[in-house]
Amino acid sequence: MSGYVMRAAVLFAPREALKVVDVELAEPGPGEVRVRLAASGVCASDWHTMTGAIPSPTPSVLGHEGAGVVEEVGAGVRDVKPGDHVVLSWVPSCGRCRYCESGRPNLCSVAAPFLLAGTLVSGARRLSYQGQPLYHYSFLSTFAEAVVVDEACCIPVRPDVPLSVAALVGCAVMTGFGAVVNRARAEPGSTVIVYGAGGVGLSAVMAARLSGAQHVIAVDPVASKRALALEVGATHVADPGEDDPGEVVSSLTAGDGADVAIESAGRTELVAAAFAATRRGGTIVCVGIPAADATIVLPGPAMVRHEKIVTGSLYGSCRPRVDMPKILDLYASGRLPLDRLVSRTYGLDDINVAFDDMVAGKLARGVVEFSALGAP
Ligand SMILES: [Zn+2]
Ligand SMILES: [Zn+2]
Repeated sequence: MSGYVMRAAVLFAPREALKVVDVELAEPGPGEVRVRLAASGVCASDWHTMTGAIPSPTPSVLGHEGAGVVEEVGAGVRDVKPGDHVVLSWVPSCGRCRYCESGRPNLCSVAAPFLLAGTLVSGARRLSYQGQPLYHYSFLSTFAEAVVVDEACCIPVRPDVPLSVAALVGCAVMTGFGAVVNRARAEPGSTVIVYGAGGVGLSAVMAARLSGAQHVIAVDPVASKRALALEVGATHVADPGEDDPGEVVSSLTAGDGADVAIESAGRTELVAAAFAATRRGGTIVCVGIPAADATIVLPGPAMVRHEKIVTGSLYGSCRPRVDMPKILDLYASGRLPLDRLVSRTYGLDDINVAFDDMVAGKLARGVVEFSALGAP
């Protein structure tokens, strides 16, 4: 058992481009697992860290949406073995705290507070560049050919699904699907409006349709994303520059409003719009993470009189070992077209192009594929 040198994209400082360099990856310590990565999605959260909007320690290896094959396990690891296919979860739930015990492992009091601390759960770092330690990101650091992660981050999944699709379940899909299914608990016949049709929003659209929603309205300024939303389950779309999404919902519900609204863009004014577009007793789920100092302004009287539920959802309010395999079963049975989310794939050397494309609105999801394993 030993560490090795691999390629990784390093953020040396905020507001700089990522640099792909040789990085040392240490051997897995006790309770840790080394995973050879097949694919890593690029996510807006990484971008917000690159721009400095979400503060996170540097120099670091970003990336938190990955899947791959277990290569080596540290002492005491029992859940996975070399050769297992795994989705990487960015909340290494402890399984013992009050949140884990009460069925809300995404809020784990051991893991969740240290999400942006830049270390593994133990406080250790297993990455270095020219002998200097690098910080991890969201316990994972998937913009690299391999990772060393806590055992609790490894969610074993069926080996017959492409790892490029499985990777997306590690963040975007779980977040959007879980907001609808776990948090809002959308019911058959309901009306669901989804703000933002990127990887998270489109996953919410698919989940709403799968849940039997009668109307699914996707709101996005980018025409190609609206078109894709219609292909994966939206019944209606709205261009916020042209249409009033609230009017679209109103016309479909005899003036009543949506049962469920999902805000996936991280824009607080859209939370207010979602609140207005929702019927009495409806549920507004905030999924996109806004700027660090953002506040949400909502009408006070309606908050009381209309009994609306405004809630956040972290990581799709997921139980990773329950939800991630289930989602991939739904994909494998043809009921959740997750492969449609992959707009384009990139080599690691082109990772900055992937972010440029994301910021330009060209992608549902961009996925970095690693040549060492490729994607089956
Ligand atoms: Zn993400
Ligand atoms: Zn816990």
